[in-house]
Amino acid sequence: MHVLVINAGSSSLKYQLVHVETGRVIAKGICERVGSPESFIKHERNDEKTVTELPLPDHVASVHAVIDALVGGDNPAIASLDDINALGFRIVHGGAYFDKSVIIDEDVIAKIDELAELAPLHNRPAISAIRACQGMMPNTPMVAVFDTSFFQTLPPAAYLYPIPYEYYEKYGIRKYGAHGTSHRYVAYRAANMLGESLDDLKIITCHLGSGCSMTAIDHGQAIDTSMGFTPLDGLMMGTRCGIIDPAIVPFLMDHEHLSTAEINEVLNKKSGLLGISGTSNDLRSIDEAADKGDPRAAMAYEMFAHSVKRYIGSYTYLMAGVDAIVLTAGVGENSAKMRRLIFAGMQRLGIRIDDKKNKIQGSFERIISHDKSRVTVMVIPTDEEYMIAKDTYEIVKEL
Ligand code: ADP
Repeated sequence: MHVLVINAGSSSLKYQLVHVETGRVIAKGICERVGSPESFIKHERNDEKTVTELPLPDHVASVHAVIDALVGGDNPAIASLDDINALGFRIVHGGAYFDKSVIIDEDVIAKIDELAELAPLHNRPAISAIRACQGMMPNTPMVAVFDTSFFQTLPPAAYLYPIPYEYYEKYGIRKYGAHGTSHRYVAYRAANMLGESLDDLKIITCHLGSGCSMTAIDHGQAIDTSMGFTPLDGLMMGTRCGIIDPAIVPFLMDHEHLSTAEINEVLNKKSGLLGISGTSNDLRSIDEAADKGDPRAAMAYEMFAHSVKRYIGSYTYLMAGVDAIVLTAGVGENSAKMRRLIFAGMQRLGIRIDDKKNKIQGSFERIISHDKSRVTVMVIPTDEEYMIAKDTYEIVKEL
C-alpha cells in the first residue's frame, strides 16, 4: 500500500510517499516559505534532489505542487493519483477528543478546527491540506494521526495543573503533551530491539532536538510527559525556556512593560540555549563556544544536561524503576558528549554507558550502555512519517 504522509506547519508542508509493507520511502520533500514570495519546493526521488521556486500562496497550492512533483517530471514517483492508496496527516493537537489515529470525516475536521486555538500554527494549515486532498482525491481514505493522542493515557494526577479546577472545565487547561508520534515510535522500536513486549517494559523516551520532550512509558502506556498545555513546558530547549517559576511571567511583564505577545516571544523564541548563551540555539555552536572558553555557552550546555537528568530521575521514581532509556532527535542521536554528560556518575542507579559504543556516530539504532548496565540506554533515530504511514495502513486495511 502506498501512503502519502502530509505534515503541514505554519509556513511549510512536508510530505513523504511510503510503501508501507517494505517501509521504503519512494519520494519525499518539503514546500517552504509558504505564503511568502520566496516559496519553493524541495523534492527528493531516489538520490536525486530538485529545488523549484514557484508561487505557493497557501497550503492548498502546496498540496497541488506536491502532487505535480510526484506525478510529473522525468522520473515520476507514481503514474497517477490512483497509485496513492491512502493519506496520513500529522495533526498537532487532538485535545482530549482523540486517543488514537482516526479516519477523517466531517466530524473529525470540525474537532481539529475547534482545537485550533491550542495549536494556531498547525491545526488550520492541516485542515487546508486535508481539504485540498479531498478535492483532488475524493475517494481516497484519509487518516489523522495526532501528536497528542499517545498522552491520553496520562492519569488526572499527571495531566491536571494545581490551579482552580474551573479553568480546566472552562478552557480545557491541562497537560496534552507533544511529539507523541516520535515517543510512540522509538518506544515501539526499543521493545523490538530488546525482543520484548512493550507491555513488559518501563521506558523513558527522550526526544532532544530543537524542541525537547521526555515521556515515562509504563507497560506500554504513557503515564507522564514533559510538555504540557503547550510545547513550551518541560525541558530547556533551543529557544524555549521549559519549566520556570510561573511568577516570573507577571514579574517580567510588569518590569519590562511587555504585552502578552511580547512575553510569549521571550519565552518561546529568546530563551533556552539561546537565552543563556546569548549567541546560539544550536547545541553544536554552543559546544564550540564553550570549548573556546565562553562561560555562558558552557553554562547553557550544563543546564541542558541538568534539565534532562531531572526528568530521568523523576520518571524513574514515578515508574518505580526503568528498564530502558531511549534517546532520539538531533541532540539525542548525534551528541555523544551530551549523552556522556547526562549519564555520568549514574552507576549506583544501574546506568552505565559504554564509552566506545557511545562514540559511534551514524543514523542507526544501537545500544550505548555497557553490557553490565542494569538499564539499557539506546539511540534510536526517530521516524514520525513511518509511524503515520503505519497507523494509516492499519486503519485503512480494516476498511
Ligand atoms: P528539529 O527537527 O526540532 O529542528 P533536530 O532534531 O534536527 O531539531 O535537532 C536540532 C538540534 O540537534 C540542534 O541543537 C543541533 O545542534 C543538534 N545536533 C545536530 N547534530 C548534532 C551533533 N552532531 N552534535 C551535537 N548536536 C547536534
